[in-house]
Amino acid sequence: MKLSVIGAGTMGHGIAQVGATAGYEVALRDVDESVLEDAVDSIEENLGGAIARDKLTEAEAADALDRIETTVELESAVEGADLVVEAVPEDEELKQEVLGEAELLAEDQAVLATNTSSLPVTSIASSLDDPSRLVGLHFFNPVHIMALVEVVVAEQTSDDTVAFAEEFVEEIGKTAVVVEDAPGFATSRLGAAQGVEAIRMVQAGVAAPAAIDDGMELGYRHPMGPLQLTDVVGLDVRLDILEHLREELGERFRPPALLRRKVRAGKLGKKTGEGFYVWEDGEAVAVAEEFR
Ligand code: NAD
Repeated sequence: MKLSVIGAGTMGHGIAQVGATAGYEVALRDVDESVLEDAVDSIEENLGGAIARDKLTEAEAADALDRIETTVELESAVEGADLVVEAVPEDEELKQEVLGEAELLAEDQAVLATNTSSLPVTSIASSLDDPSRLVGLHFFNPVHIMALVEVVVAEQTSDDTVAFAEEFVEEIGKTAVVVEDAPGFATSRLGAAQGVEAIRMVQAGVAAPAAIDDGMELGYRHPMGPLQLTDVVGLDVRLDILEHLREELGERFRPPALLRRKVRAGKLGKKTGEGFYVWEDGEAVAVAEEFR
């Protein structure tokens, strides 16, 4: 079986890794050679981690790495592939272009998949000659660690395509949840709903960020509270998701003024060193001063 992954960034290299580890021959394509080199380095590092944790033997890791070929050419990447997954940037036109080219070059029976996290899969599919072969495969970051893949069923996706996608997810050792192509799918919608309510509660002075997070961690057994998670996701990313969901689903997703203010101030969370918390060396070390 051959897996073709288009785009070798954060998500693409992870998808290539889990495919190769599961025994697929993988072709990983990017337009940028240096991204491909970094992708192989990251995969090697991740496989090293898996060896250290006794998840893989040295020989299994070496075999997985051998099964990955990198290329800047689309034609050889999709040739003979059973599944083509695109993980190029979140831009509908770009995704349509990449999948359109892949459709022309791939075998007729190859399944096509998009790793979009927010675009309607139905719209992406609409530009294909045969839209029934496209499905959403929404992986989570970091791909080699996260156990979930949302299988997103577009209006045009055929039953066979969905069945193939579910089988693939099982083969790579992950769990599939099948969702209709609705805004935010299942996970982003619920995650955003909880995050936005937590921010409103801070704004209204109901409780301090750490109290809200402790409440959900200790009272509901969430591994991370909604405000710390917002810092990890990035406040700007969270704002974009909320704008999108508000447009599609209504005012209940309206971004709170507090979120907009922090984004305007460049306080974007973990990546800038401050959001609801202050971050040092990748760890939340204190609540941000304005909430103390
Ligand atoms: P990224 O920017 O890290 O990687 C995208 C890669 O695509 C880049 O390396 C770029 O050079 C390459 N690219 C651009 N045009 C190309 C083309 N025509 N052919 C081949 N490669 C091309 O982005 P990412 O974070 O990996 O996100 C990719 C997709 O996955 C997006 O749709 C995103 O919404 C989705 N996603 C991201 C996450 C996340 O946490 N990062 C989680 C789930 C889904």
